[in-house]
Amino acid sequence: MGSLKNKVAIVTGAGQGIGAATAKRLAQEGAKVAVFDLEPGRETVQTIESINGEAIAVACDVSDVEQVDVAVEKVVSHFGRVDILVNNAGVIRDNLIFRMSPEDWDLVMNVHLRGSFLCTKAVQKHMVEQRFGKIINISSASAMGNRGQANYSAAKAGIQGLTKTLALELGPFNINVNSVAPGYVVTDMTKETSERVGLDFEEQQQLIAKNNPLRKVGKPEDIANVIAFLASEDSSYVNGQIIYVNGGAR
Ligand code: NAD
Repeated sequence: MGSLKNKVAIVTGAGQGIGAATAKRLAQEGAKVAVFDLEPGRETVQTIESINGEAIAVACDVSDVEQVDVAVEKVVSHFGRVDILVNNAGVIRDNLIFRMSPEDWDLVMNVHLRGSFLCTKAVQKHMVEQRFGKIINISSASAMGNRGQANYSAAKAGIQGLTKTLALELGPFNINVNSVAPGYVVTDMTKETSERVGLDFEEQQQLIAKNNPLRKVGKPEDIANVIAFLASEDSSYVNGQIIYVNGGAR
């Protein structure tokens, strides 16, 4: 505990799910956290304050360049710096290719890929100046292909390329860029997929767990723990890596 004391973190899509668990975990390590989401993530801020942490809620659509720039400057003027960025905001618009609309393609690409690009571009100038930074991009096991997710899978594969390229470009400035690729994690996002395929949410979880080597599904905290490691000095020689956190599923 306390490995991120005096550090400032931005977690996008931190109003719920994996982002909220990550914001809390980083705060437990002592980081001051900016909770970015479409609506201000007040619940996440309250959770962090209840454990004596420090956080602010910032409304920001990560796919909008002006909103991102204003939000990042708000964090820098409030906390004085930014050390950690977790590009986590996400949406799904699943469908088989013949039914997938160009709008659903664009939305998923814009939130995951353009959003990660815009947030990184806005924070990197501060990180380069201070010669320190940790950027963690959330990919997915779906990057390897998943039926009904052509848009999402392409965006998550794109995030892996973005991660590897940024690791090369920003590494010389003492900025580590890595990616976490979760498997199935119980959140509203997976609830939405169970509804789409007509499976009861509990039933879906049991099915996934049965086929997982560890015989269990992921929790948001499982992902947050690995993100906290990548945000800490314990991983200072880890750069450009994609870490699958999926119980060993193939
Ligand atoms: P979630 O739906 O519970 O949370 C996503 C959050 O992102 C929401 O709070 C939402 O409001 C926010 N968001 C959406 N669009 C946004 C935008 N334009 N700007 C800012 N915020 C926006 O989902 P989750 O399961 O917690 O997913 C978090 C991340 O993990 C996503 O990138 C997702 O693709 C990835 N992921 C999830 C799983 C899983 O099984 N749940 C698996 C692999 C990867």
